[in-house]
Amino acid sequence: MNFLEERIVRDGVVKEGNVLKVDSFLNHQMDIELFDRMGEEFAKRFADKEINKILTIEASGIGIAVIVARHFGNCPVVFAKKSRSINLDGDMYVAEVESFTHKNINNVIVSKKFLSADDRILIIDDFLANGCALQGLIQLAMEADATVEGIGIAIEKGFQAGGRIIRNLGYQLESLAIIESM
Ligand code: 5GP
Repeated sequence: MNFLEERIVRDGVVKEGNVLKVDSFLNHQMDIELFDRMGEEFAKRFADKEINKILTIEASGIGIAVIVARHFGNCPVVFAKKSRSINLDGDMYVAEVESFTHKNINNVIVSKKFLSADDRILIIDDFLANGCALQGLIQLAMEADATVEGIGIAIEKGFQAGGRIIRNLGYQLESLAIIESM
C-alpha cells in the first residue's frame, strides 16, 4: 500500500451510497504534508509533460491543486466555479456537471481570461467516481483550445465507470489510490 492508501484504510469512513468520507485529512480538514507527497508523486508521473497551468473544480479540488502546483514550477491554479445561474455572459467558458455527492446539475464556469490555447493543463481533483466532474473540466479546456496534458486524481473509485471512460478518451489519468470495493 502507498501512503495515501494507508491513510484511507486508517481514517476513511464508508458512507451510504458508495460515498467514502475522508474529511479528516482530504476535503474538510486538510493534511498539507500528505498533499505535498501527492504533489511529489504527480510530479514523477507527469515528469515528461510541460505543464504550465493546473485546473480543478471547487471546492475540494482547490486545496490539493494549490499544493500540487508547488511541484509544477509554482504554475497558476484555476478552479472552475459552480454556478446555478443560467444568465451567464459571454466572458465565461461553461460546462454542465452532475454532482455525484449532491445529485444536482451545476454549470461550471471559468473566465475566458484564465484559460487559453497556450495552456498545457494538468487537471487535479480529489475523487473520481462517474467522471462527470472530469468531463466538465475537459470540456472547459477544449472550449479554450487548451491542451490537457494529464489528469491527477487522489482517490479513484475503480468500481465506478469514470476511470474507464476517461482513459478510453485517451488521457493520461493517474490516480494515487484506486478503491476496488467499499
Ligand atoms: P464524478 O463526477 O466523477 O462522478 O464525481 C467526482 C466528484 O464527486 C468529486 O469532485 C468529489 O467531490 C465527489 N465525490 C465522488 N465520490 C465521492 C466520494 O466517495 N466521497 C467524497 N467525499 N466525494 C466524492
